[in-house]
Amino acid sequence: MQTAIGSAPVRALTIDVSERKHITRISIDMSRSVQASLFTLDRPFRLVLDFPTIDFSALERRNLRRSSLVQDYRFGPLSKNMSRLVLDIKEPFKLIDARAENPTHGRARLHLDLAPVSLASFRRQGVPPQLTQSVELRGTTESRSTKKQIKPVIVIDPGHGGPDPGASGYGRILEKRLVLKVGLALRDKLRASGRYQVVMTRDKDVFVPLDERVAIAERAGAKLFISLHADSIAQQSLASSISGATIYTLSKRASDAKAQRVADEENAVDQLSGLPIAENAERDQIAGILFDLMQRETVVKTGHFKRYLIDSLRRRITVARSPHRSAAFRVLRQPQTPSVLIELGYMSNPKELKRMQTSDWQRSAVAAISSAIQSYFETHGN
Ligand SMILES: [Zn+2]
Repeated sequence: MQTAIGSAPVRALTIDVSERKHITRISIDMSRSVQASLFTLDRPFRLVLDFPTIDFSALERRNLRRSSLVQDYRFGPLSKNMSRLVLDIKEPFKLIDARAENPTHGRARLHLDLAPVSLASFRRQGVPPQLTQSVELRGTTESRSTKKQIKPVIVIDPGHGGPDPGASGYGRILEKRLVLKVGLALRDKLRASGRYQVVMTRDKDVFVPLDERVAIAERAGAKLFISLHADSIAQQSLASSISGATIYTLSKRASDAKAQRVADEENAVDQLSGLPIAENAERDQIAGILFDLMQRETVVKTGHFKRYLIDSLRRRITVARSPHRSAAFRVLRQPQTPSVLIELGYMSNPKELKRMQTSDWQRSAVAAISSAIQSYFETHGN
């Protein structure tokens, strides 16, 4: 499945959808032939294709054609050597045919024929989802902590990535890109201070499952975990009036309906990107047990860090009217590590989105977070 060293990755050129009677044909043009593995996922209904590394840069998501059956597309790197394309399908479907056409001019075309079927026959086709379990998921490339280490390890977790774009704002601005940019700038600033060891859960546009993000922090012996996100609300009528950063911490029960909504969305990203649901459900139980074992000390320290953060952010960028909320965020279930999730602002607010893209705003946000980190470690030691 690995591309030969030195050879450029296969490029995805176009995706087209056509309907003939009850059959929907999806045609994917590639710069040359490539091997794909397919599987289907339930609720929401999805068709998932895994490839060796694919360059998707020629595809523009919003320009791709939708049909009565094919509702949306997500694509991106899944790991170092694999890429994933996820098709959101409106209703239960059957994959009638999947084949590659003879390449012309060195190109290759993949045809996928789908037809709507009953839920029962969708489930009977049983293309197994086990495939994802063998996928090599990206871990950290940073070194693990050792006993000798005295600098505290801070894990920065830019949300989403790869086939999971997160929220999107006007003009194709994606949450995954914005938070990666801020995350990398924060890493550089913290490293430059010489006080901390910094580990990123991702430092490029790649998919990292939520539990893997938690595992990275555990392996690194993190003293602080900071997940970076940007929010978006669906109601157009409210979009321009709601702005500002919010700090989320872990709680079993959500502080309010809004926190519940944000946690539900952030917790669903693994499923939406095609991780098998059964595996997640099992992990949920384990996570539930871990939650009960959450150390009291961790809860107290998280509360302190949260207060430094709110004060510091308030001095430099806009914060939401209720800047602290809590809910059962999967990525914050870390018994040993004080952890927060920062929604930096609202991408659904045109003014705020514009501001968030400026290097001025990004510098301010990074300065605010790093000064909160400094205050925290000055009071809590390492
Ligand atoms: Zn997010």
